[in-house]
Amino acid sequence: NAQVETFEFQAEVRQLLQLVIHSIYSNKDAFLRELVSNASDALDKLRLAAFRDKDLAVETEDLHIAVDADADARTLTVRDNGIGMSRDEVVQLIGTIAKSGTAEFLKQLKETKDAAGAQELIGQFGVGFYASFMVADRVTLVTRRAGEDTGTKWESGGAGTYTVESVPDAPQGTSVTLHLKPADAEEQTADYTSPWKIREIIKRYSDFITWPIRMAKPASGDDAATEVETVNSMKALWARPKEETTEAELTEFYKHIAHDWAEPLETIRLRAEGTFEYQALLFIPSHAPLDLFMRDGKRGIQLYVKRVFIMDDCESLIPEYLRFVKGVVDAQDLSLNVSRETLQQDRQIQLIRKRLVKKVLSTIKELQSSAAEGSAEKYAKFWGEFGKAVKEGLIADPDNREAILEICSFESTADPEKQTTLREYVERMKEGQQDIYYMTGDSRTVIENSPHLEAFQAKGYEVLVLTDPIDEMWVDAVTGFDGKQLKSIAKGEVDLPSDSDADREEQAKDFAGLLGWMTEKLGESVKEVRLSSRLTTSPACVVGDTHDLAPNLEKMYRAMGH
Ligand code: ADP
Ligand code: MG
Repeated sequence: NAQVETFEFQAEVRQLLQLVIHSIYSNKDAFLRELVSNASDALDKLRLAAFRDKDLAVETEDLHIAVDADADARTLTVRDNGIGMSRDEVVQLIGTIAKSGTAEFLKQLKETKDAAGAQELIGQFGVGFYASFMVADRVTLVTRRAGEDTGTKWESGGAGTYTVESVPDAPQGTSVTLHLKPADAEEQTADYTSPWKIREIIKRYSDFITWPIRMAKPASGDDAATEVETVNSMKALWARPKEETTEAELTEFYKHIAHDWAEPLETIRLRAEGTFEYQALLFIPSHAPLDLFMRDGKRGIQLYVKRVFIMDDCESLIPEYLRFVKGVVDAQDLSLNVSRETLQQDRQIQLIRKRLVKKVLSTIKELQSSAAEGSAEKYAKFWGEFGKAVKEGLIADPDNREAILEICSFESTADPEKQTTLREYVERMKEGQQDIYYMTGDSRTVIENSPHLEAFQAKGYEVLVLTDPIDEMWVDAVTGFDGKQLKSIAKGEVDLPSDSDADREEQAKDFAGLLGWMTEKLGESVKEVRLSSRLTTSPACVVGDTHDLAPNLEKMYRAMGH
């Protein structure tokens, strides 16, 4: 069936391709990283598939990546003998953007008016395979899914359409051939057919890839013959001692596993030796993924067993509230046969998870408290991107609650421009102040205009201003910090320390008549009318009972039909 079918790109892909083709993205070399990265993923998948199903008719001998440049034809080909794609998969995976978070990405793309903003967005989102069109005006992909007979050829100039046809004699795996744009002296586009240049890019971006990346090199002595050399060192970065890895290598490794184009904010290493041996190399990204708050959002830890890739998104290794952490865990003593289900029960995995959590939390704590240059900015960036997710941990992870509270920051009445940690709050507490005060609400303005705040402001007490929806939830779970109680100024009886009991009793007598009359008039609408020391200028206010739901929560439950 040699019929050539023509397909239109999804509108969103067309849009994306336009941006890529006219890219002002300064780092065009990155296209090769993307192709090698995909080839490496495909080889990982093949090895795993062959391991899981011993009867699968696949070739697993000599798995590798080959890079071929042809200066005369001006083509560059990246080939792998990995898992490959079926015809349907080609249409599905290459013609559409199927990644989670895509909808959000496209929404942001539409809202972005200027080219620079769009480029930055692409830099964050990563364009994967489409990066080829930064340097090529035509791309040909030939692939055969391991275990299938027929291959598929995909081709496009990147404009509006692509073609797909079946090919009978394709080898297992995928080859991507780029028909390179003319090298442009003015734009200083590199010559991507130069072996020297290609080797340099691979060393820089893909050295850690665990599969051999092979290239022909001219043999010494004989002009006509060539010999094949492996360009990358293939050393697993997480297994190497710290001193033997460079910052640049770590960054490229991060970009590969996180499918991110931006640099990580922080790198975390962990290793355990002895009877139960493992290594972990984790990263905190510098920006939140677009699917951070989506139901099917991914968790970013890959599991390896003895250098063999086992799975992506290993949810047993990291709790949900730290789902943004990316990285690799390589365990020496697990079976290659582990599944997601068995992992959940695995005691070793549970122990690793515990240590990862502690290490991530302590790393953030260090960023926050370190006086080192740039550390405070990193922490602020971290909190801005991931704070909302981290606060989920205050409810979900009681064992680490204190450690999580330590790394939280909140708005407060002390300084509208600056967030505060609880530790800093405690240091500023007034003489005689027992508790940490907070108020939850829809916005800072609502809270600032609340009559509840008056007495506290008059006394100079600082109040935390909590406006995230999640804040309503965790304040119920968290009772205190550092031996101080956490108290809502809008609930129950908040005793301001300077009120003497004698004064209160005196006043109660004086106002008994008025209170009785008000209770009668308000009837069913209120539980109780009482004298309060919480107001200074407003005559009265409505407060919730200590155990009542916060107004926002009440609204939410009502909306859900409770
Ligand atoms: P990502 O790698 O982030 O998923 P890409 O745009 O790089 O995004 O690739 C899209 C998808 O196309 C991949 O997830 C994979 O399923 C498929 N793909 C790309 N290159 C290959 C390849 N060399 N072999 C097999 N599948 C591939
Ligand atoms: Mg990719």
